[in-house]
Amino acid sequence: MPLKRGIGVSAGVVIGDAVVLDTEEVRIPRRTVSKNEIAHEMELVNKAFAAAQAEVVPEREALAARAGNELADIFGFHERWLADPKPRKEICGLIESRLYSAAYAISVFMRKYRRRFQEMNSPYLQERAKDVLDIERRLLHHVGGEVRSELAELETPVIVVAHDLTPTQLVMLEKTKRILGFATDAGGSTSHTAILAAGLGIPAVVGLEDITSHVSSGDTLVVDGLHGVVVINPDAAQREDYDSQAAHLLEVRATLEELRDVASETRDGERVELLGNIEFPSEVPGCLEKGATGIGLFRTEFLFLQDGPHPDEEAQYEVYRSAVEQVGDRPLVIRTMDLGGDKIHPGGGWEAEKNPFLGLRSIRYSLQNLTMFRAQLRAIVRASAKGDVRVMFPLISRIMELRQAKFVLNLVMEELEEAGYEFRSPIPVGVMVETPAAAICARELAQECDFLSIGTNDLIQYTLAVDRSNERVAQLYTPADPSIIRLIRGVVRDAASGDAKVSICGEMAGDPIFTILLVGLGLRSLSMAASHIPLVKKIIRSITLADAERVKRRVLSFETEREVLNYLRDETRKVWGDI
Ligand code: PEP
Ligand code: MG
Repeated sequence: MPLKRGIGVSAGVVIGDAVVLDTEEVRIPRRTVSKNEIAHEMELVNKAFAAAQAEVVPEREALAARAGNELADIFGFHERWLADPKPRKEICGLIESRLYSAAYAISVFMRKYRRRFQEMNSPYLQERAKDVLDIERRLLHHVGGEVRSELAELETPVIVVAHDLTPTQLVMLEKTKRILGFATDAGGSTSHTAILAAGLGIPAVVGLEDITSHVSSGDTLVVDGLHGVVVINPDAAQREDYDSQAAHLLEVRATLEELRDVASETRDGERVELLGNIEFPSEVPGCLEKGATGIGLFRTEFLFLQDGPHPDEEAQYEVYRSAVEQVGDRPLVIRTMDLGGDKIHPGGGWEAEKNPFLGLRSIRYSLQNLTMFRAQLRAIVRASAKGDVRVMFPLISRIMELRQAKFVLNLVMEELEEAGYEFRSPIPVGVMVETPAAAICARELAQECDFLSIGTNDLIQYTLAVDRSNERVAQLYTPADPSIIRLIRGVVRDAASGDAKVSICGEMAGDPIFTILLVGLGLRSLSMAASHIPLVKKIIRSITLADAERVKRRVLSFETEREVLNYLRDETRKVWGDI
């Protein structure tokens, strides 16, 4: 059975029915009709072709008048295709032989047809695949409005297949508990959708490039988020194999869970703090269950990516209070909103930017939207009365941003004090090191804050100039590049000389391949998605500090990512078999 490889981003195996969403969230349910409806469905197909043709002719003529015949020939392709009787005949054939509804027959036929173009060698013909998609949308539009369906309307748990899913869409799907797993054409291992999937425990494979043209709604899919594999319509043997893999995964997890209450320390007694990363307070118990001794990263921007208006100070206070109460007397690092980049609310009135990851993102956005920023800081500071709350500013790339953010924080604290609120004072302030600029100037930053947290997800994308969510360059995105390892080494040293604590909270922190190296580099605090904690702890408990330092020295002598990875794989295998 067809098997597609992509990037596994959330370990877990799931089998279920697929629902394919296209970029406009059009869902085409697998619907069959009775024999006496066949004529009606065929009539719908013929009418849709006629209506689409009627649309295309004036569009081509208008474009020709504005931009010349050459460009207008894009619609010429549509026009010729729609006039050809063969596609219509084949679609009607599907209605007759398989009793498909008009919409479903169109979508099945068009997907196959699109795939033929995509597999052609000529870039020109591959481009035509987009035209085929466009024609499909036109036809579907004309067979009836009922094919349009919002994500939130899914009724049974399904595997969502889409070109891409935004974090916002995933949040909405998760809320309805109707998503078993997902597979997307686009995306990379540290896109925020991927991170969210791992946090929520939703098995997922991204970066599959063309999964949407291989799957039709109603197909059965296996999504193997551990190995980054999707199997379309598995046969009985494959199903059995994946069922047993899923069971094995559960067994391994159960063994690791026994480690929950043992200390996270090396064989020679060096402590390494393991913290959880969360997007919502509801994830706190999951982190504690896996053995987290606090929360090292609360990505608060997800509160702003949900339906409805932005949460005000009071609503945020309730959320932070709930988080801190669940965390108890353990640390809770609340990161101020890191909006922008790939975290944009579709209805939030954001201006489109050409390079959103280099644009008005994160702390830059907060400093330009002071009313929102102040409301958030007030809510965080108020919640600090309840426990060990720390504030962290994301994407600081120059010291002035830190000073400005601290200035606003101090102002808010003065206001709250005057109004008689209780809170923690001074409240520890941290800076995320996510840009090469911050890494290079870590010493100065460390002198003006209490802790640094290395955000490798962004640090990698900005250092290597590789978009973290673009599957086309996903093979260039790697934490194992010597430049990244040297930057981390520098930040750890600079933090110590500036008297600031240092931790790491990007996905690299939870990847077991890097655990020994990170300990060797001097990190004693790692923050990660809950699911990674047990395995990372297992590795820490299997090594000595001398092992870790030896590994670090060797890794720092390598020139290529490949050498680093091969060596780290071997070293990790030595301490804990084949993971
Ligand atoms: C990071 O960049 O490593 C990080 C932890 O922040 P985020 O993934 O939310 O951008
Ligand atoms: Mg980041």
